[in-house]
Amino acid sequence: MLLPSKSTFMNYIKKFRVKPGSKVRLSEIDPDFSDKDEDKKSSVEKIAKLQEQMNVMQYRLFAEQKRSLLVVLQALDAGGKDGTIRHVFGTMNPQGCRVAGFKQPSAEELSHDFLWRIEHQSPKRGEVVVFNRSHYEDVLVVRVHNLVHKDVWKERYEQINDFERRLAANGTQILKFFLHISKEEQLERFKDRLDDPERHWKISEADYSERKYWDDYQAAYEDAIERCSSHDAPWFVIPSDHKWFRNLAISKIVTETIENLGIELPPPHVDIDNIRSSYHEALGWAEAKKDD
Ligand code: AMP
Ligand code: MG
Repeated sequence: MLLPSKSTFMNYIKKFRVKPGSKVRLSEIDPDFSDKDEDKKSSVEKIAKLQEQMNVMQYRLFAEQKRSLLVVLQALDAGGKDGTIRHVFGTMNPQGCRVAGFKQPSAEELSHDFLWRIEHQSPKRGEVVVFNRSHYEDVLVVRVHNLVHKDVWKERYEQINDFERRLAANGTQILKFFLHISKEEQLERFKDRLDDPERHWKISEADYSERKYWDDYQAAYEDAIERCSSHDAPWFVIPSDHKWFRNLAISKIVTETIENLGIELPPPHVDIDNIRSSYHEALGWAEAKKDD
């Protein structure tokens, strides 16, 4: 088994974490940023190593059955949520890892409070769950399109904080990532989709209609991140114009965070020396039988 190693590269947790209570100005965070000591080629190898470490930790988390990890991914259209899931979490053991996606709520979901469908998908002990969109949509798209009255969505930040505090207090480590891309990069990615028949299924008219609300979305994200980045459930703003850098930064942050949980394998439920003698006894019988 690999032991967690101390890494030599930039402290991405420190660099991209939004400190609780601090102001967020997305226009002042460069989506094109990348670590100058890395490039696409070096990132592939580093991500593979990080995944090995991440998988060791996932194994321990699963064995321990006490805590869990919830990763929230939010971004504008073409921001890279799907790619992040594939490239960062794609090697996790499916026994113990799950993705939950949140689209327009159904009539049934709308007839409950906004956290009802979210709560239902929150991780069990030992599990890693990745949210592809989340309860934050209820203060993002809902706010931008006035789907509920302002008085209603304004109350939700505190409700989200209460909910996340409760999950954290019950053993869930929460990490929330905003994949920050530029408007130009979004259009590039829309073009890539148009040019690639394999990706035509991803195109929706909403991509273009929502783009008109770019500034409103940026403002809604700033408020959500500012009001809901907490010690137990921090937000990270990840420069995401470079897909390789986005994957590297998120891999690093997730790996370091689960390593910092200090999860040990649980002690055996049995007396190993006793079991060893049972094993040797069984082996003796099996060998005696062979000689017959
Ligand atoms: P996609 O992730 O591209 O498949 O799109 C899912 C769509 O569902 C996006 O346009 C989201 O904004 C929308 N959506 C997700 N959650 C909500 C919500 N709570 N209320 C309204 N729309 C939502
Ligand atoms: Mg979409």
